[in-house]
Amino acid sequence: MSGEAASSTSLDGGAALPGARGLEGFAWDDGRLLRARVVECALGRVCGGCGRPLGRPIAFVGDAEERERNAFHLPPLHVACAATLQRQPAAPAELVTTAGFEFVRPTRDDADPEPRFVPNSLL
Ligand SMILES: [Zn+2]
Repeated sequence: MSGEAASSTSLDGGAALPGARGLEGFAWDDGRLLRARVVECALGRVCGGCGRPLGRPIAFVGDAEERERNAFHLPPLHVACAATLQRQPAAPAELVTTAGFEFVRPTRDDADPEPRFVPNSLL
């Protein structure tokens, strides 16, 4: 797996997700969080910041509500990439680290229409 392969990933199907605009990273295009990239990060276990494979711990950043619900909308990150992301002015302030996560796709009746990440082994 190379960075070049990751960067050549098609962007079609890349509906932009609301929130967390104005950030930069593998899962973003021109400041918009791309759903296709978020799913790719989830299923491929790659970092939303740099696009490389995740190790442990895994970091999630979000706002206070996401932390409260333990459900994050931004893709999983390396701890270092989370720190880099959080230096961007638009980044949410909260950060958690976990050894693992569940990827939750919304159901039809779900109050939250976006896919999300549930850390399951907070560190
Ligand atoms: Zn990374």
